Amino acid sequence: MLTKRLSTSEEDIEVAGKILREGGLVAFPTETVYGLGANALDSKAVASIYEAKGRPSDNPMIVHIADSAELKQLVKGGRDGIGKNAIKVMEAFWPGPLTIIFPKSSAVPDVTTGGLDTVAIRMPSNDIAYRLIVEAGVPIAAPSANLSGKPSPTTAEDVLEDMNGRIEAVIMGGCCDVGIESTVLDLTGDKPIILRPGLITSEWISGVLDQEVAYDKMLLANNEMVANPREGVTETSFKPKSPGMKYTHYSPKAKVRLIEGSDIEFKRKVVELGIKAKKQGYSSAVLNYEDDVRRAAKKFFADLRELDRQEYDIIFIKTLEETGLGFSVMNRMLKSAGYDVIK
Ligand code: AMP
Ligand code: MG
Repeated sequence: MLTKRLSTSEEDIEVAGKILREGGLVAFPTETVYGLGANALDSKAVASIYEAKGRPSDNPMIVHIADSAELKQLVKGGRDGIGKNAIKVMEAFWPGPLTIIFPKSSAVPDVTTGGLDTVAIRMPSNDIAYRLIVEAGVPIAAPSANLSGKPSPTTAEDVLEDMNGRIEAVIMGGCCDVGIESTVLDLTGDKPIILRPGLITSEWISGVLDQEVAYDKMLLANNEMVANPREGVTETSFKPKSPGMKYTHYSPKAKVRLIEGSDIEFKRKVVELGIKAKKQGYSSAVLNYEDDVRRAAKKFFADLRELDRQEYDIIFIKTLEETGLGFSVMNRMLKSAGYDVIK
């Protein structure tokens, strides 16, 4: 299949909308990462996303909408099923990088939710994404537009690296502003719980809801593996609420190693380990975001892909402090390193 490169012109967005309505796949930019979209209500179209990505079929999609009126048909119980907390966070953070889990209506096919009785919904703030969803006239199921297991794409070129020939079209929409995927917030239980950390942090949501917003236990167990990387939890022992958590993620071809410590300690270790690697015939690259968490979020996936293109064998990365957005970026860094942290 020839993958069309579409611009952001009105005519091209119309072409993209038509492809989606007809059951095809279109990759498009959002403020977080590029999504690989299909009509969320068309089981066959959604099934072809799993195929194009090589994604396990129990890993559900996020459904993207442009107007909160759409919730009526997607959420169980319609308007009454939405709940007070959801209304508060939607008012505060939509459109934006926050995904909310709702009980699902029967209009949403099982394949879209990986067989779960809940559905993840988001209203992106990116203008191109907004225009595309409006033009398509249907809710758009979209996971990140990478091959399963690879770093999420934050440019159209990164999408093409994985998806050229596998999908109908990609909208060439420049680079994504946030750079890591949306925060996933579960509001279906007694307490609000974050299943995936993102730009919108628990502190922020907590302020809006005026109640504690905890991270899912599995997520913390995941990050706590740093303390004990070789003991305890293995990814396969997880039965997480968010199925995406149990799969390997963000793995570049190079081996990623995180290094903890002060600036001087980091530099010393990088030199020492770099020399050791070189003696063994391995090339190494260094990523140091110098505690600029916003830049780290925006650049991390793009940097992994770029260093892979340059064929480095090892990537040394300076860890970030695990608070606020730093926690969210560290979640991706730890996964990409297979929880290998040098202290
Ligand atoms: P992606 O769009 O590829 O970044 O992945 C979507 C993420 O949202 C995955 O981690 C999924 O496990 C998670 N997700 C989607 N739908 C649900 C749901 N109904 N319940 C819990 N997590 C979900
Ligand atoms: Mg993904």
